[in-house]
Amino acid sequence: MTLNETLQTLHRIHRQLADLQDRLQRGPRQIKVAETSVKNCEAELAAAKDAYRQAKMAADEKQLQLKQREAKLKDFESKLFSAQSNKEYQLLKDQIAADNQANSVLSDEILEALEKLDELTAASKVAESNLAKTKEELTKVRERIEAQQQGLETELARVQAELDAAQESLEGDFKADYLRLMKSRGEDSLAPVEGDCCGGCSHTLTPQTLNVLHLDRAAFCKSCGRLLYVPS
Ligand SMILES: [Zn+2]
Repeated sequence: MTLNETLQTLHRIHRQLADLQDRLQRGPRQIKVAETSVKNCEAELAAAKDAYRQAKMAADEKQLQLKQREAKLKDFESKLFSAQSNKEYQLLKDQIAADNQANSVLSDEILEALEKLDELTAASKVAESNLAKTKEELTKVRERIEAQQQGLETELARVQAELDAAQESLEGDFKADYLRLMKSRGEDSLAPVEGDCCGGCSHTLTPQTLNVLHLDRAAFCKSCGRLLYVPS
């Protein structure tokens, strides 16, 4: 294998490795997104239940209040028959009218509170169903990613072995330079020659550099520093 062919192979392998690593990192990120959805839905459900609990307490309190007032009203009504004077009778009458008015307002408030409770119950059900859906989705995402990660890990090991084998043929100082460059720049440390330009940065290569490459010797782009090869 010529040096050009070896470098072309290495570039392909490095691109594959970068792609595999990118896909491997994407998996856990997708799981995180799904986990965040579940957490958000849990918080929404907790808030919906809390809102219901508070509204229920307020409604219960109003209902209790109404019962007490109605009992008081009955008491006034019974006293009406035993009133000792016109004045007392009239006072009781006024009191009863005022209490009836107040109770009617309270009854309306209770009706509103019960309607509100119905709304809050419906909201809780929606939040419950949303939570169930996102949990189901999370399970699916986890299963899919887990299966996918195993495949990607296997593929990564295979390509890594391929890389080790391809690097075998490099020698001495050049190998050291290549490894140093690869460590810092990964797949961006190599570029094919395109026309008479560097395929990495489009810089026009000198005739001298092109000559070196056509003699199957190592050359770097003077603009971006990538290791060049003539693709076959
Ligand atoms: Zn370049």
